[in-house]
Amino acid sequence: MILDGRKTADELNLVLKEKVSLLKSKPRLEIILVGNDPASLSYVKGKLSTTEKLGMVTNINYLDEHVSEKEVYDLIHSFNHNDEVNGILLQLPLPKHLNSEMLMESIDYRKDVDGFHTINQGLLFQKKAGIRPATPKGIMMLLDHYGIEIEGKHAVVIGRSQIVGAPISKMLLDRNATVTITHSKTKNLAEITKQADILIAAIGKAKFVTKDMVKQGAVVIDVGINRVDGKLVGDVDFNEVEPIASYITPVPKGVGPMTICALGYNLYELYLKQRGE
Ligand code: NDP
Repeated sequence: MILDGRKTADELNLVLKEKVSLLKSKPRLEIILVGNDPASLSYVKGKLSTTEKLGMVTNINYLDEHVSEKEVYDLIHSFNHNDEVNGILLQLPLPKHLNSEMLMESIDYRKDVDGFHTINQGLLFQKKAGIRPATPKGIMMLLDHYGIEIEGKHAVVIGRSQIVGAPISKMLLDRNATVTITHSKTKNLAEITKQADILIAAIGKAKFVTKDMVKQGAVVIDVGINRVDGKLVGDVDFNEVEPIASYITPVPKGVGPMTICALGYNLYELYLKQRGE
């Protein structure tokens, strides 16, 4: 069965739109985009169009690729101190001359819509309330939407990045899955992935997961976005794996729309916390 991220996101967005319409004012997101990377531009436009449809205000701040670190920092600083701004999103990757880590950390964690700030990551790892990274949060929403059981299942995550692999592992663990985290130094990867009831691929290598790596009946979540010959391709060889999986996400229209959906929910949560509503 296909886990339809687009359809699920549309349904969850309808619920969120209704909630937003009941607020006293519109939640406001400021996106900072540095340079002209076409992939980043398309992600940012997707975020803008979804949040606008939800009745939220989103502004994209286009900055020149040669912008100084101080200018970006000052812009973030001004949004941190502007009570009208509920969420700040610094689109990654940044040009090499900018210190991504420092700039991400300069975002007030109470406006960190991406959930990447050290404080929000710390709250996740201490199992305390906080803003969760949008992609793992979107994956959890998708699994829940389809009623996929997590407790007691063996989840294998390929990838350990701070934005996907590590947080999704912790979120699955907190839902009582038994979690194995794998990475580029893992030996005998296929032997491990074949044990997965739930397999999460967050690698960044087109069609990396082949059918010999997947157990019959596994739930397969493909996070990867790779551009091959102008087409979007996931980390999973969909055609090979789909017949043996019980559930599988397509690329596109799988995890991507769920990430944006989770971002909308994050902005809503930030607004509620800031306004005490
Ligand atoms: P990173 O490059 O930060 O992390 C990739 C991870 O994959 C690393 O932990 C790396 O291991 C691991 N890896 C690389 N090669 C292998 C290998 N041969 N065997 C096992 N593990 C390997 O990527 P991200 O986590 O940021 O993103 C992963 C993918 O997800 C990308 O395609 C990205 O575009 C996509 N993505 C999609 C989103 C969406 O909304 N759908 C959102 C965010 C990302 P090691 O740590 O040892 O280097």
